[in-house]
Amino acid sequence: MELLNKLLTMLQFEEIMDYGVWDLVINLIIFGVLTVPFFLIFWVYFKDKFQARRIQPKRNRFSLSIRQEIKNSMVSLFIFTVIDALIYLAQLKGYTKLYTNVDQYGWPYLVFSVLIIIFLHDALFYFLHRFMHHPKIYNYVHKVHHQSTDPSPFAAFSFHPLEALCEASIYVIFAFLLPVHMAALWAWQIIQVTLNVIAHLGYEIYPENFNRHWLFKFKTPSTHHNMHHAKVHGNYGLYFTWLDKLFKTEFKDYNQTYDAIHERVKESESVSQTYTRVRTEQEASYVK
Ligand SMILES: [Zn+2]
Ligand SMILES: [Zn+2]
Repeated sequence: MELLNKLLTMLQFEEIMDYGVWDLVINLIIFGVLTVPFFLIFWVYFKDKFQARRIQPKRNRFSLSIRQEIKNSMVSLFIFTVIDALIYLAQLKGYTKLYTNVDQYGWPYLVFSVLIIIFLHDALFYFLHRFMHHPKIYNYVHKVHHQSTDPSPFAAFSFHPLEALCEASIYVIFAFLLPVHMAALWAWQIIQVTLNVIAHLGYEIYPENFNRHWLFKFKTPSTHHNMHHAKVHGNYGLYFTWLDKLFKTEFKDYNQTYDAIHERVKESESVSQTYTRVRTEQEASYVK
């Protein structure tokens, strides 16, 4: 018993538990605040209005249920929290490069560190994702994420627990690799959850020709990752398309699919404008 008490004191158990509870609450709030509004706007209240932007026009009935996507994402958030708490313990013991005083490296470095994390995360994610698609791994781990063949925003973290653990290990690398302020980590966290939710939105919200712009073509719009869920072996990138372009893993019909969605959007807008014009003319003739 005394040994156990000693161990708990050494691991600063109470402090770590307090931190873990708050971390879990914040993770849940970020996930909830970023998924629920997107879901309500696109999947519930205005789904008819946004129908032309639907990447897979007909709901794939074999796709994992939204309820199960939420359950899987909750388990992943819990696993992320455990890893966060372990990183916090390492920080308390002075093993990490995390810092809390902005003056130590200044604001420009803090902003720059967020960008470094984004680019590093993108690259690590790409190679981890390719690894997850290895035939010997795919069926046991990554297939859970691909059960959402037509993902909803709640599929953003719908992973097998082992995959959640691998994703969280990327955080560990940042904490030990380069000086990172806690604010930079939280800023990156909000950015990555937002982009992840948009990637799983099921609706294309990026503008026409985004995929053909000299610079923006390197950013993944929603269609890019949605095609990964629908067709599986291709479009592995997270934030950017450059590694898919470099390793020729981008689907050949990616641009065509993106353009077709915007053709549909333009068509539906012109139909609705014609409808409004005819209605206005009819109403005007009744008044006469
Ligand atoms: Zn995949
Ligand atoms: Zn996905």
